Amino acid sequence: MPETILLAHGSGGKLAHRLIEENILSDLSNPMLARMDDSAVMEFSGQLAFTTDSYVVSPIFFPGGDIGKLSVCGTTNDLAMSGARPLYLSLSFIIEEGFPLSDLKRILSSIRDTAREAGVQIVTGDTKVVNRGNADKLYINTAGIGRIKQGTNISGANIVPGDKIILSGSIGDHGIAIMSKREGLHFSTDLQSDCAPLCGMVANMIATGADIHALRDPTRGGVATTLNEMSEQSQVRIVIEEERIPVRDEVLGACEMLGFDPLYVANEGKLVAFVPSRDAQRVLDAMRRHPYGARAQVIGEVEQAETPCVVMKTVLGASRLVDMLVGDLLPRIC
Ligand code: MG
Repeated sequence: MPETILLAHGSGGKLAHRLIEENILSDLSNPMLARMDDSAVMEFSGQLAFTTDSYVVSPIFFPGGDIGKLSVCGTTNDLAMSGARPLYLSLSFIIEEGFPLSDLKRILSSIRDTAREAGVQIVTGDTKVVNRGNADKLYINTAGIGRIKQGTNISGANIVPGDKIILSGSIGDHGIAIMSKREGLHFSTDLQSDCAPLCGMVANMIATGADIHALRDPTRGGVATTLNEMSEQSQVRIVIEEERIPVRDEVLGACEMLGFDPLYVANEGKLVAFVPSRDAQRVLDAMRRHPYGARAQVIGEVEQAETPCVVMKTVLGASRLVDMLVGDLLPRIC
């Protein structure tokens, strides 16, 4: 086997078969994938969630993760935000000719480990190779299917005045970890991406029996953009308190240096939940019992609105309007 990826690895011929059998099937094997038919075949009843995302993060290896882990977390997290338990994923690679095989193997084992943690099976996939210079190392697309338990109805359109807003932990870790690796910034402590599969924590939150109205993972555009989307969707005013929003010192420091507002920096292992006041404490407790929600906080409340908006009460006691992200703060962070 050559040490780097050749155009022939994406040709569907002998080399492509060897690549798939020796590297991909060996790592990700399950009965559905092993059949090697043109599509995965499965039976279903009830409500399903279906989503897709492409991953073009640069660099492909970063503190706290890599493009493979991200491609499983991102898609399974979107399923979880609809209240679905992720079941199946597709996995497609677009690889630049000359990509080191050892890097592909590293990424595959991280996909395997993350899929195992998220409880999903990779049941179909594809590999394409493009000429050197026509892609930047490696791009991944994953699509996912999840099952929604009967009676679950979680949507950004379900938010009502009086709902408490719970944030699962510190913000901006992913964006700043990527940025620091890219720009060679060094922090006194090791800042890591928060990249993580959230479906386990979401399952625990749903299991409390609380009437969870809405969930979302504040990825690109950060918490500020996510909350703006949700205020639009439900036509409400969202009020958050600055002093309740956890931000790591390293993230604050980097943001000050780079001129960023952590509210707009991407997360890959955080969620915001909207729950009725009477259910807030038990949802918060369930989140804090899970490692990915240990620093969960109620950060604000939903109010009636003429015009949907997001308002932040600052540590100095003032109120300011929090707008959606304009432009692209950090390109290729996911
Ligand atoms: Mg999302």
